[in-house]
Amino acid sequence: MFLVDLTFCGDLPGFLRRSLRGTATVRRALGEKTAVKDVIEACGVPHVEVDLIVALDATGTAGRALEFAFPVDAPVTLAIFPVPAPPDLLPGAPRLQPRGCARFIADGHLGTLTRHLRLLGLDTAYERDADDPRLLEIMTQEHRTLLTRDRRLLMHAIVHHGYCPRSHDPEEQAREVLRRFELMSQPPRFAPWSRCLRCNGLLRSVPRQAVIEALAQEPRTLRYYGDFRRCTECGRIYWHGSHAGQLSARLARMQCLPTGTRDRK
Ligand SMILES: [Zn+2]
Repeated sequence: MFLVDLTFCGDLPGFLRRSLRGTATVRRALGEKTAVKDVIEACGVPHVEVDLIVALDATGTAGRALEFAFPVDAPVTLAIFPVPAPPDLLPGAPRLQPRGCARFIADGHLGTLTRHLRLLGLDTAYERDADDPRLLEIMTQEHRTLLTRDRRLLMHAIVHHGYCPRSHDPEEQAREVLRRFELMSQPPRFAPWSRCLRCNGLLRSVPRQAVIEALAQEPRTLRYYGDFRRCTECGRIYWHGSHAGQLSARLARMQCLPTGTRDRK
């Protein structure tokens, strides 16, 4: 039997199991050699939320970075950091989580976030009624990053890349995803107005003649608008119509752009 002390930094304490909350440092007694990933997840913190694990030396002031598979077999003090880990902390140590992920699978409770991410142009798969095995199947087959507030699901052994949105507000969730995966870096990793909000298909510009029949019941639209796009998957037609102002404002808020910025191509 040996003791492991874990200090969870940033907002990671919010993931701790209820019985462990309220203390800065969690002490675990281990009876056998255990991967540090399993020691952390036993506390309730999904490994996909951990960017850096530092084993502190006896002085508690310096240390070395550990991989998830590191076997803990002796007393140790660990400091665990969320994404992004402080850049000045062991700057030579590789971070455990990837940046730049731009393909997602969202669980059935994140339908509004899904539409927001698609509005941004981010490739986001979604099936409202998908159960956990189906979510994991899509994630694996299509190499997508899992978005879910189900922490237990994020701890599944086959989940390598994932994120738990903290906020309940879908716009803030979208901002969280942009920040977490550093998608606002230049050039941006996404193109607003490029995906169908309904099915995630890519949009393609089409001439007015191509939509006359489909929009026969909307003569005012045909008269006043000339820039049409059609989903290459489901055929839905988009134009810069009455909702575009609201959507443009939403896009600006999600990207933290100045109000009134028009980012439509
Ligand atoms: Zn579509």
